[in-house]
Amino acid sequence: MMNESKCWQSVIDKDQTKDGKFFYGVMTTKVFCRPGCPSRAPLRKNVRFYETAERAQADGLRPCMRCKPLEVNRLTDQDRFSEIRRYIQRNLDSRELLKLEMLSRNFGLSPFHFQRTFKSVVGLTPKQYIQELRMQTFKEELRDGASISGAVYGAGFGSSSRVYERLDTQLGMTPKEYRSGGDGVAISFATFGTPLGLMMLGATDRGLCFLEFGTSAADLSESLRQEYPRATIKAMLKPYSTQFIAWVEALSGYLEGEKAIGAMPIALHGTAFQVKVWRYLQTIPSGSVQSYSEVAEAIGKPKAARAVASACAANRIALVVPCHRVIRGDGSLGGYRWGLERKRALLDAERQALATAH
Ligand SMILES: [Zn+2]
Repeated sequence: MMNESKCWQSVIDKDQTKDGKFFYGVMTTKVFCRPGCPSRAPLRKNVRFYETAERAQADGLRPCMRCKPLEVNRLTDQDRFSEIRRYIQRNLDSRELLKLEMLSRNFGLSPFHFQRTFKSVVGLTPKQYIQELRMQTFKEELRDGASISGAVYGAGFGSSSRVYERLDTQLGMTPKEYRSGGDGVAISFATFGTPLGLMMLGATDRGLCFLEFGTSAADLSESLRQEYPRATIKAMLKPYSTQFIAWVEALSGYLEGEKAIGAMPIALHGTAFQVKVWRYLQTIPSGSVQSYSEVAEAIGKPKAARAVASACAANRIALVVPCHRVIRGDGSLGGYRWGLERKRALLDAERQALATAH
């Protein structure tokens, strides 16, 4: 928001670096100017400030003949638009923030003016630009070895099957074919019952890569397949390995409030950012919680609270990567992939176990 006394100081100083950031109107002459206008400074009491030229015009003011506030100042617009581009890049995974309505409001422009100016500076509409950037990010993440769903997520594409079809067309091949490097992963899985519902555990030879709650074995294996479309997936054969039995016992013990889960080998498949968040989550002790922004702060990305929330939502290893320990800053639960009831139950049980231990 505009700080009027700072704006006024810029007008007195005829500060050209503020051109394009705001405009001032002189009520007595019905003219509006850029801050750097060379005309004599008006009296403060006659001045009103505007975030956009449009708003000044809407107030019945004419553009000043000397400083021509309507003419696009290329340099200022370039600066402004590199700021907008950085903003888009940072929030690529938020469909909400990148809606034209939200974007333009955030930068103090009307949707119409935002779209028109954006196109004149960048050469694409905001929507085309975002789409291009997503595609580029998607390809980069695939090349960096992210899983397909991780790359889809990281690029902010959402996750319907339509997205995959569109990506095929845009890539000229399936994402699976596009992705280079990284051998096919072999995953074996098994389901087991817990006090909070059915779970499926999937593991590679590097460790746990999938642990989710679900309503049926069929749903769960579908979810596993979607998550790891590249992998060779097969059911674990009975008798189960001692390794698997030990994992299930540790998980059941934890869910029954008897003990902490303990260390388990996990294989994290995601973008570099997601993996960073997931690793960090593992350091939040049982019985305590942190907010999305606290996590963002802790991993050195203080502005990435939203991306942290997305990374939590993209977690595929429930409990062991304790995304349930991250809540909103106002103390409300936020979201949970496997239902808020479960999140609440887990947090209550952990708090209780901590209280009993003390
Ligand atoms: Zn002027």
